[in-house]
Amino acid sequence: MKNLLSIRDLSKDKAIELLSSSNEMSAVNRRAIKTLPTLRGKTVVNLFYENSTRTRISFEIAAKRLGADVINVSSEVSSASKGEGLKDTAQTLEALGADAIVLRHPMSGAAHAMATRGWISSSVINAGDGRHEHPTQALLDALTINRHFDAGCDFTGLKVLIVGDLLHSRVARSNFLLLNLLGATVIATGPKELMPTGFSEMGVTLYEGLDQALEQKPDAIMMLRVQKERMQADVAFSASNYQRSWSLTEERLGQLKPASVIMHPGPMNRGLEISNGAAEDSRSQVLEQVQNGLAVRMAVLHHLLGGQS
Ligand code: ASP
Repeated sequence: MKNLLSIRDLSKDKAIELLSSSNEMSAVNRRAIKTLPTLRGKTVVNLFYENSTRTRISFEIAAKRLGADVINVSSEVSSASKGEGLKDTAQTLEALGADAIVLRHPMSGAAHAMATRGWISSSVINAGDGRHEHPTQALLDALTINRHFDAGCDFTGLKVLIVGDLLHSRVARSNFLLLNLLGATVIATGPKELMPTGFSEMGVTLYEGLDQALEQKPDAIMMLRVQKERMQADVAFSASNYQRSWSLTEERLGQLKPASVIMHPGPMNRGLEISNGAAEDSRSQVLEQVQNGLAVRMAVLHHLLGGQS
């Protein structure tokens, strides 16, 4: 495997292999000496055209833990701000020795273009492309669910509810694909105007309202961030209406099963899609998601650059 562009690149066996090697990386992260020399001599470039805290930092730490050299490039401080296109930027990075480019870009399909148009031969990892996909986020979410429920990578019988701005969410799209691959029942709900078409083809059952979806007693509930930056000017958005209908408020917490888990990919808009009480509830796995993100990114880098097929 050379690139990770989409969850569609993964067979079920490959996804399970990545999740089990993420577990091994978690064990490394719990040791006093948290490094492995497997990527010594390799160079990983984080090329980010959109802001990021968790994804960028965890890819950086992940690469460093495996012994690689890491360079962080953001579009504001690179020649992208002078109009350099993706192809020239990618070829420049490869000429400087990048073995892998971790790309975040506002355009859906950007990582795919970089990896498949013959511009470069370095590995490309999609760290979020527009509203399309965010495969390492889905892997870290699956790892979180797998560990919490001790599911052995078989999610049959587990019900996951995804809530909110489904239209703009690459997190939701990658999660639908991966959760289905692992056998989970995936349900979703969100405002009509933020609901894309084609979800039923992805094996997702949609509910009209959050309260109705909560009656399905999900094992995991994933709240999505409202992606205001991706909303067209013509989408009328009212924060107070959204909060009333779609937020995981403290009142709604009582509808969740005691053994369920609350997830959010971050950054959280507290008071909008999730209340303080829900973010800090004992069932919240938000910080476990962040930790698991580090392990997943170590596993992905290791698989792509460490010589495994
Ligand atoms: N951090 C995630 C992403 O980049 C979720 C979000 O920003 O809403 O897609």
